[in-house]
Amino acid sequence: MLKGLVPILDPGHGGIIGGKYQTSGKRSPNWDQGIIYEGAANRWIVNGVMALMDQLDLPYFNICPELRDVSLEARVRRANAIQVEHPNSYVLSIHHNAGGGTGFEGFTSKGDTPSDPVADRFLAQLEKDFPDETPRFDYYSDGDRDKEVSYRILTGTSGRAVLLELGFMDHRNDYKRILNPKVQRRRIRSLVYCISALYYGSL
Ligand SMILES: [Zn+2]
Repeated sequence: MLKGLVPILDPGHGGIIGGKYQTSGKRSPNWDQGIIYEGAANRWIVNGVMALMDQLDLPYFNICPELRDVSLEARVRRANAIQVEHPNSYVLSIHHNAGGGTGFEGFTSKGDTPSDPVADRFLAQLEKDFPDETPRFDYYSDGDRDKEVSYRILTGTSGRAVLLELGFMDHRNDYKRILNPKVQRRRIRSLVYCISALYYGSL
């Protein structure tokens, strides 16, 4: 049973400072509700997760509290420093996708690692809470729900690390959902439910 696990939150990319998005690319088309800047959307979720976790008295770390786009190297360094002190932690990197597709997906580093059961819990929870969305699970490589790629935050970190993509900014329906405050709140609650279960060992 997974128990006592503490998340190291990682809102992907940069936020918006004085109206200026800090990351090149990483945005939606300019559709009817305007442009979604991925780094901002990632922070809507991570900020909501932290607010709810504060209310529930749950511990967490955040390796990118800045609005500027902290480099992946620095994020990995920060995560590794925390994981040395707290081996029971896991990086939870929050992103939104683009490039054709719909629904949510999760990634871990390649091979069978202790990150896999953590990723599996999150994806199972999202699947349960969002039956109306298309889960993009890679069941074929190793039987887990996570797709294995070589994202630096996943391969550079020494401990557990999971990257979630919470919908496609360039898919019309996902775009609407990413911008919908109700959907945002449901995603935040779903993530915190799983974070809490991984901490208390109640799943
Ligand atoms: Zn991203």
